[in-house]
Amino acid sequence: MAPIDDPAKRKIARYHLLEKSVCRRCGALNPPKATKCRRCHSKDLRPKKKDLTK
Ligand SMILES: [Zn+2]
Repeated sequence: MAPIDDPAKRKIARYHLLEKSVCRRCGALNPPKATKCRRCHSKDLRPKKKDLTK
């Protein structure tokens, strides 16, 4: 995977990688503000956020 030199692009990429909700039932990725899964319509979503500060 090629390194991204543009900080703005890196920020956007990180946002799209992390700012999501994951369905506990089927594992589908949903928008961070989703209240129910777009695939199985379960309301059991968990936020997918990882602290990447190293
Ligand atoms: Zn689901």
